[in-house]
Amino acid sequence: MYPILSVILRVCIVLELCSGTAWALQFQRYHSQEEIAAFLREQAQLYPELVRFQVLGRSPQGREIAIVSVTKSEAADVPAIYFNGTHHGNEKASTEAILGLIQNLVQNRDRGDTDRFLRRYKIILQPLVNPDGHALNSRTDAHGADPNRDYASPSKPESEAFRLVETRLVRDLLNRENVVASAAFHAGLEAVLWPWCHTPTLSRDEPQFKILGEAVARTMNMPKYTQSFFDYQTEGEFIDYAYMRFGIYALTLEVALEPSPREDQLENVVDRAVLGSMSFLQAIEQLTLKFNKSAALNVRPLDLRAAL
Ligand SMILES: [Zn+2]
Repeated sequence: MYPILSVILRVCIVLELCSGTAWALQFQRYHSQEEIAAFLREQAQLYPELVRFQVLGRSPQGREIAIVSVTKSEAADVPAIYFNGTHHGNEKASTEAILGLIQNLVQNRDRGDTDRFLRRYKIILQPLVNPDGHALNSRTDAHGADPNRDYASPSKPESEAFRLVETRLVRDLLNRENVVASAAFHAGLEAVLWPWCHTPTLSRDEPQFKILGEAVARTMNMPKYTQSFFDYQTEGEFIDYAYMRFGIYALTLEVALEPSPREDQLENVVDRAVLGSMSFLQAIEQLTLKFNKSAALNVRPLDLRAAL
């Protein structure tokens, strides 16, 4: 873990709570979808120049599927980094971790690394990919289908994929936005995983994925970081599709051993996932700067490996 980053984050959280901000979420219990919807809208209303709220669509049972985008950039083609939670509806720790990340980005918008990330990137956050599963406390959607097996991959053509509205909304978002990196939050183990899921063949970007995965795993004090296939073989996962179709640095971030940990453990789970996400942003920034040296001007150099 980055000890300095951890201390700074905790101090920032304490300062914000001390400021008496009425809308600050507390992670001592799980939030309802009504509370989540209100929180997302409130962020956009309070910070209209920073946060944009957008409804992507509705689930088969009519529940809202929404995102917020957080950025200080006004460039139309600003690179985006996309975090999503709750492909699997019973993995409620992943929903809360996305909410915690939104709150952290907004509260620390003018501080250090966060300020720089928000000037450089659009950060897109989707707490609920599968709101019907979340409402039913089910891994799958309301009809027993697993959204994280519904994407295309190199061995699964698009004609056999995207049968669910939930994954079509994600696909369409990726088609619209210039996403360069993504982390899909899950829960049920503690690990950082990357493509490929469907084959043991290493991806062309295995060295970069390893740098990213190791940075996040070490920040979160997780021993497991590996190509997803070597955790277990799957077909049709989000990260394989995002990497195959768009070249996105896409990780699966398993944020907790239990899908929905006890409520008295939730705050630590969220804090740790936020720290891991900040290290992911740092590592992505460093990787992308390597390939775009002009963008490095006026940016504080960051030696990720020295910081670990
Ligand atoms: Zn999952």
